[in-house]
Amino acid sequence: MTNKNMYFIANWKMFGDLRSLNSLDKVIKFSKSNKINKGRLIYCPPYTLISSFLKKFINCQIDIGGQNCHESENSGPYTGFVNSRMLKNIGANYVIIGHSENREKGENNKLINQKIKSALKAKLKVIFCIGESLTEKRKKKTKSILSKQIKVGLDKIKNKKNIFIAYEPVWAIGTGIVPKSKDLLKIVKFIKSKFKDKSSKVLYGGSVNPQNIKSLKEINNIDGFLIGGASQNSKKFIDIVKKTYN
Ligand code: PGA
Repeated sequence: MTNKNMYFIANWKMFGDLRSLNSLDKVIKFSKSNKINKGRLIYCPPYTLISSFLKKFINCQIDIGGQNCHESENSGPYTGFVNSRMLKNIGANYVIIGHSENREKGENNKLINQKIKSALKAKLKVIFCIGESLTEKRKKKTKSILSKQIKVGLDKIKNKKNIFIAYEPVWAIGTGIVPKSKDLLKIVKFIKSKFKDKSSKVLYGGSVNPQNIKSLKEINNIDGFLIGGASQNSKKFIDIVKKTYN
């Protein structure tokens, strides 16, 4: 039986403009007509679209998040950045931190830890991405990489109830490849074992689509999905949610 409290988080990455707003009508209609629990659909559009998405989602149960934030809780001379307070102030409730596309640009575990702390202070919920590269997987380093990302990324953070772990193997992002079900089951179990609080949430991300959701949803310890490419197409996003429950 699929967990009825699954989360579906749309990561739009650097895609979308004002014309994309019309495509959300289908999702709004779907969210109103279906018994999706409140707050289980979350969109993380680019910063430029957050306000417009919020206006669009008024009176429906869809939540909003940012895709990253600066580590400083205060404003400052950081050209091109946005901090967690700014995200909260505009109406976001979530933020993605530690995405591999940002790790590739130089974000390390320590910086990610600072970002997570600032986001929690701003009362944002954190979607904390972790995952190994293909080379690390081949060298059988997956568990040690994940352990380090969790240990340093969450260093000195006692209350973890607003942290969602998104396990996103780098080799699965945007490639159409997903881990084998039995491997994913074990890894999610391994991640959960790192947390004392048994209610901690672990999501999976990487090439989730309407075809592979049938097998992914059978992995009974997963609490939801972080969906990139497929989430930019409302029909595909809705199909993923529908197929999870049917
Ligand atoms: P993908 O991206 O679904 O396009 O693989 C997932 C992500 O990067 O969050």
